[in-house]
Amino acid sequence: MGINNRLRFQCIHCGQCCLNQNTLVNTTYVDVLRIKNGLKLTIDEVLEILGFYMFDQAPSVSEIDRMVVPPIQTERGMAFVGLKKRPNGQCFFYDETKERCSIYAFRPGFCRTFPFTFTILRNKNKKESDINIFYTEKGIQYCRGIGEDYPNIDLKKWIKLGREVIRDLSKNNELIKKWNSSVKNKQILPSARNFILTIFNLE
Ligand code: SF4
Ligand code: SF4
Repeated sequence: MGINNRLRFQCIHCGQCCLNQNTLVNTTYVDVLRIKNGLKLTIDEVLEILGFYMFDQAPSVSEIDRMVVPPIQTERGMAFVGLKKRPNGQCFFYDETKERCSIYAFRPGFCRTFPFTFTILRNKNKKESDINIFYTEKGIQYCRGIGEDYPNIDLKKWIKLGREVIRDLSKNNELIKKWNSSVKNKQILPSARNFILTIFNLE
């Protein structure tokens, strides 16, 4: 496997990935449905827990192509869909009293894989593609569980998770492509509610 065998990490539950002001937890439609079903939320309640983050400057097509989760077209312009943040910058679902995630079992793929990211290495001769795993930039910046003092990661476990997440991301990106094209062709009103309704209808 084309995999880095020297990744050392153990989550020490410092909470930095939930508290960091500059971290946006993006959500795929699979994440949204998992949270919606786990917490039994209505459309209005889902709209309450999500943020539609606008760009200061509209990204170019090539920038969008490089994004792990592309933005969606809304009535206000292009937006990233992610978990809402509290005014102090921490994740909406971070429980300050208990110092932990209040939706741990339903948390998004972003949180499940932090501080790692994955890329696919296509291999025409094999049935299944290899996956490469890296620390994310944010992980390197502030994750306190990365370092020589920690054990080597269980690669099998992480690669399995990487495959699941890549599958979700690719299904999600298909949905976003369809959504953006329907908006462009004026087939749908690009409201946040309609986007969530589209996700609900996938079940
Ligand atoms: S969903 Fe949970 S794990 Fe993810 S950032 Fe929010 S509080 Fe942290
Ligand atoms: S920043 Fe790293 S060590 Fe801290 S809670 Fe997040 S994953 Fe765990």
